[in-house]
Amino acid sequence: MSKENEFDYVIVGAGIAGCSTAYFLSKYSNSVLLIDKNENVAFGASGAAGAFLSPLLGKPNNFKDLISKSLKFSTSFYKEVNSKSFLNEGVCRIPKNNEDRKKFESYESYMDFDYKVLDDGYLFDIGSWINPNEICNLLTEKINKKLKYKIDSIVKKDDIWILNNEVKTKNLILCTGANTKLIEEKYFDIRAVWGQKIDILTSDCISFNYHKECSVSKAVKSQFQDLYNVSIGATHHRFECNENIDDCSNCYTEDIINEDSKKLIKLADDIVHFNNIDDIKINNIKIGARASSPDYFPIIGSLIDSRKSFERFPHLINGTHIKESMLEKIENLYVVNGVGGRGFVLSPYLANELVESIINNKKIDENITPYRQFKRWAKKQKKQK
Ligand SMILES: Cc1cc2nc3c(=O)[nH]c(=O)nc-3n(C[C@H](O)[C@H](O)[C@H](O)COP(=O)(O)OP(=O)(O)OC[C@H]3O[C@@H](n4cnc5c(N)ncnc54)[C@H](O)[C@@H]3O)c2cc1C
Repeated sequence: MSKENEFDYVIVGAGIAGCSTAYFLSKYSNSVLLIDKNENVAFGASGAAGAFLSPLLGKPNNFKDLISKSLKFSTSFYKEVNSKSFLNEGVCRIPKNNEDRKKFESYESYMDFDYKVLDDGYLFDIGSWINPNEICNLLTEKINKKLKYKIDSIVKKDDIWILNNEVKTKNLILCTGANTKLIEEKYFDIRAVWGQKIDILTSDCISFNYHKECSVSKAVKSQFQDLYNVSIGATHHRFECNENIDDCSNCYTEDIINEDSKKLIKLADDIVHFNNIDDIKINNIKIGARASSPDYFPIIGSLIDSRKSFERFPHLINGTHIKESMLEKIENLYVVNGVGGRGFVLSPYLANELVESIINNKKIDENITPYRQFKRWAKKQKKQK
């Protein structure tokens, strides 16, 4: 397609998921449009993130495998795109208590990344920190964007998706994070986990990224003499305001914001032992809604059309197993969502998987497609009848 407002690919949502998707798609197509309701990229959860990249420790399981694979991928990706703000200087993981230390030690033979003992903890060279705005801007500098443009409706007509009765596209990719109103499928279950991170000015020159009960970034020299910028994140809250994901001020009150800030400084102090805690100045507070699936795995790929799938396979209601490839899909509609509290670790890897599946038919791992949510939901339908 070439006419104004007609594209081969439109991505809604310019957080790290949408920006990574746009970046990989643009290698195959020059007809890509990235849309966001905000005035710039990285204004949603992505703008609120730390954003720390840290390994997941534990015994082997599918989730840990996914995080380790994604962490390796994203680390080399952020280096390859030459992100200036990507500080791959390691993260020191500190056990919370003796029990936690024993757990750490028991994971020794399952570590996916090299580490050495440092202070009270374990230093993993793979750990890093990235500036969300810088990376989202860098990934999309050559991408056609339509900002300050909220999508209220998506309709399919003659194999073309029409957005707000105005923008047309052959393929639509929804990367809208915690705002899932455009997706009408009932099985698609994403919950908002709100949280806060703060940036502080301190005279303490913190020499590593740390993670214990919160993450603390390595100190970066500020514009003020003898003062450093340090990021501390993050808190977690679930509120009943999923209906209005754009404004959580009724739930996330000033009191909670102030309590969260104090809590983060206290948790950071427990790690770095500030020389003078009273000397700390908070110079930035960011709040955002992480998009989490109930099983914490992300959700990537084509959406299943539940109505058509039930029409074609009525026995789905009895729990009959139907292979994912046999189910009816909503043609040319894709999602990258549910990246939870690890969006900067997962998104580049997942976006690449999605683009390779769209362009080169690469199969996406069933653990991360919408299929698992559909299966669970389909089984419940009989009980509810
Ligand atoms: C406080 C906090 C700290 C965090 N710390 C870390 C960390 O240290 N490391 C890490 O990896 N992750 C961290 N995360 C998680 C990370 O920020 C998220 O996983 C990631 O940003 C999600 O990216 P996203 O693109 O899916 O969603 P978002 O960044 O929320 O982007 C979705 C975009 O879609 C747009 N949108 C939605 N609906 C519409 C519509 N109808 N029309 C137009 N635009 C629309 C929104 O405006 C938004 O810009 C943190 C999150 C929070 C809140």
